[in-house]
This record gives sequence, C-alpha cells and structure tokens, in this order.
Amino acid sequence: MNSIERDVVIVGAGASGLTAATELTKAGLSVAVLEARDRVGGRLWTDDIDGATLEIGGQWVSPDQDALIGTLEELGLETYSRYREGINIYLGENGARRTFEGEIFPVAPATEQEIVGLIERLDALVAEIDPDRPWEHPQAKELDEISFRRWLETQTDDEEARLNIGMFIAGAMLTKPAHAFSALQALLMAASAGSFSNLVDADFILDKRVKGGLQQVPLLLAERLGDDVHLNSPVRTLRWDAEGTGSGVTAITDDLQVHARFAILAVPPVLISRISYEPPLPRRQQQLHQHLSMGFVIKVHAVYETPFWRDHGYSGTAFSPYELVHEAYDNSYHGDPRGTLVGFVSDESADDVFRLSPEERKARILESLSHYYGVQALSPVVYYESDWGSEEWTRGAYAASFDMGGLARYGADLRTPVGPIHFSCSDMAGKGYQHVDGAIRVGRETAAAIVAALQP
Ligand code: FAD
Repeated sequence: MNSIERDVVIVGAGASGLTAATELTKAGLSVAVLEARDRVGGRLWTDDIDGATLEIGGQWVSPDQDALIGTLEELGLETYSRYREGINIYLGENGARRTFEGEIFPVAPATEQEIVGLIERLDALVAEIDPDRPWEHPQAKELDEISFRRWLETQTDDEEARLNIGMFIAGAMLTKPAHAFSALQALLMAASAGSFSNLVDADFILDKRVKGGLQQVPLLLAERLGDDVHLNSPVRTLRWDAEGTGSGVTAITDDLQVHARFAILAVPPVLISRISYEPPLPRRQQQLHQHLSMGFVIKVHAVYETPFWRDHGYSGTAFSPYELVHEAYDNSYHGDPRGTLVGFVSDESADDVFRLSPEERKARILESLSHYYGVQALSPVVYYESDWGSEEWTRGAYAASFDMGGLARYGADLRTPVGPIHFSCSDMAGKGYQHVDGAIRVGRETAAAIVAALQP
C-alpha cells in the first residue's frame, strides 16, 4: 500500500471536488483527489455514441449561474445557444396537440388563469426563501410537512394547472413524484434558480451549452491538477480524528493511503454512508444522510439525419404532463449537421419503462416523441438512454433531495464539518442547487473554510 501526505484529501473528482482542489492549490496547499471511476466529471460526461457526441449528464448553463460562467471564462471555454427558433408543442389530455410561443402553455383560459395565479403565488413565496437557509423561513416546518402535490391541491381545483406546475419541479427538476417531496423542498428548488418563473422559462434555465461539452470543466480542472488526481481509487475507509488532537484524516483506497489535515467528501450525499468511518460519524450525520435520496430520470437522445422539425417551423421544445416523455428539446450538437432531440422520462414513468425489454422501452419512448414531432421521430440514426440509476458511483439523476420533513429537520447540518471532514456537492448547494453552478459554488466555499481554518 502506497502512502502519501497532503494538506487536504478530496474524495470525488466531480465539478465540486475539482473546484475545491483547484482553490486549495491556488492557496498554496497540497491536495490529492481520489476518484472511484476511471474518469473525472461524475455527473458530467460527454461521450461518443455510435458516431454522435452526446452529453449523457449535465449540459445546460443558465444566465444566473455566475459561478459556472466564471469558471467557463477562466478555462477559456466557449458556449453556444440552444436552438429555439419557431413554435413549441404542448400535448393536452387525450393527446390534444397545440402549438405555442412564450412560456405559458396553450390551455383553456380558466386553466391559464390558474397557472398564472400559481406562478405568482410561488414567486412571492420563493422571494421569502433564502436558498442557503430555507429552514429559517417562518413557515419552514409547516411547508416541509406537506407534500408539494397536496400543497398544490390546497391552491387550485384545476388538475391541468396542478399537473403543469407540478411538472416543472417534480418531473423536470427534483425528478421525484410531487407526492414524495415537500412544498419547502420545492421552494428551495425554485429559490436556487432565482424564482419559480425562471424554472418555467426554458429559454432561461436551458439557455446555453458548452462547445466540446460541459465535461470540459472537470477535464480541464483535472488536467491542471495533474498527478494529484488519482483515478480508479474508490475511498473505502476514512480514519479521522474525533478527539480534536490535530491528527487529521487518512483516506484509504485499495492501494493508496492519503494522510491529510482535512478531508473533503465531494460525493453525492447518498454515497457518504458507503465509506466506512473509523470512528463512526456522529449520530446527527448518520441520521441525516438517511433522509436524502436521489431523484431518477432517463435522459434520452435521438439523433436524426436532419433536424426535420425545424423544416416544419418547430423549435423542438415540447411539453406534456400527460406524456411518457414529459419534456423534449432540440439538442443538436454544435457543428453536427444532424438533428438531435433530447427527451426526459422521469421518476415513476422511468420505473415503468425499465420493467420493459430494451426494445420495448425504446419503442415506447420513440412513440411518445412521435406524438410531439410526427412519425419521423420514430426513426433515429442514433438512440441512447442515460441510465444513471445503474451507475454505482451516482445511483440516480439528477441529484439528491430530502424526504418529507427532512429539510427543516436536518438541512442546517448538511454541510456542517465533522472535525477535519468537510462536505461539498451540488446537492448541498443553496444557489445553484442540484446544478453544476452549485457544485462549483460549494466547492469554493468549502476550500475557503479550510484555508481560513489553517490561518495562524
Ligand atoms: P458528482 O458529479 O456526482 O461527483 C462526485 C464524484 O465522486 C463522482 O465522480 C463519483 O464517481 C465520486 N465518488 C463517489 N463516491 C466515491 C468514493 N467513495 N471514492 C472516490 N470517489 C467517489 N446540471 C446543470 O447545471 N445543468 C444541466 O443541464 C444538468 N443536467 C443533468 C442531467 C443529468 C442526466 C444528470 C445526471 C445531472 C444533470 N445536472 C445538470 C446536474 C449536474 O450534473 C450535477 O449537479 C453536478 O455535476 C454534480 O457535481 P458534484 O461534483 O457535486 O457531484
């Protein structure tokens, strides 16, 4: 077993861990980043699938994500806009097909009024929430005890309005059914993006992509860190100083042992308990990590010879709370003359289609796309389903959120360091929560806290 000494050992080479490592290095500290996989990037992964460059994990950048935008600039990465010219498609109940422009779906006037009213009420509530401290809202406990679905039922009797508003947070963001998370958790999701209106606005939230793919961020950060990033190195055990003697931590992989003054666990919170701690983590952490779980969504790419929908005047943007694929977009890759659609199948619908054979699942998903775009959608030249639920070192998509009541009860301690152990991940962010922007933000804050702790 090789043994090395560093100031800080970082577990996980995702955007958060690599940002923390970069900041610590800038402050003159030595680091070792231990990554379980044979690649860096975690939930950022650009791959070549049957000749098509696809972003299997995170890809979009929105204009408020200044931490991510700053990193892109620093790394010299260029962005391009998502294709959005033309009209959008909405499928109502029973497949009624309508086109629209702007953000509000083409629903009956009474439903539209309910949707507008709900957005206004949610925006007002979100404005009262500090995304870094949602548990401090005066009604935090109350809002954390009611599911988002029930909360919506207390606001309107219009089911289509509820389904649409629910979809923006449930299927489209937390990727859990709206009965499985609280109203407070929903408000945090919206507050982390600035407002609920921002989440509803696809042109805002899914604004830009990065040339070469968003995985360029961790790849370039890791390149700068060079030999300090160790791939194929899952941390199995963390020995730590619970007594405050200053003996620090030792992170142990199958063939490497890193002794350091501090550790940063830059892994999704659901994977924290996968590591053995000697001595065990305190009661509070052992409890709280059980109250977070990953959402689940299938990101589906279908590449066609041409972006045929554009010829018909469609932007590619499509929504329906009644469809298997509840949202879809033009996701054509920069410089590729072919047309790519990306669609999402979330939570219980994802469970359902994973019970089918791969062929049946593909047929069901393409059929759903054809409801939006017509029969041409049935015949892609490349087809790919991202399956993050099967990834041992992620276990779901997009990210982790608290169960009912968990945010008010445990949220304030999610990032509280335990002795020399700090925690950093997009799933622990306020602003940029569940996004790369949040991963970077928390990575910087965690590094700054360690640098401050080391000041004489
Ligand atoms: P991760 O990327 O999960 O990194 C954690 C790392 O820790 C991983 O590399 C893992 O292998 C490693 N690890 C785990 N356990 C151990 C261990 N014991 N030892 C060593 N290493 C370990 N965000 C956006 O901003 N825009 C989007 O468009 C977007 N879309 C998404 C689409 C999908 C399908 C998915 C899955 C995510 C999406 N996200 C998006 C979310 C975004 O990708 C994540 O929020 C972000 O990448 C998380 O970064 P992280 O560093 O916090 O965690």
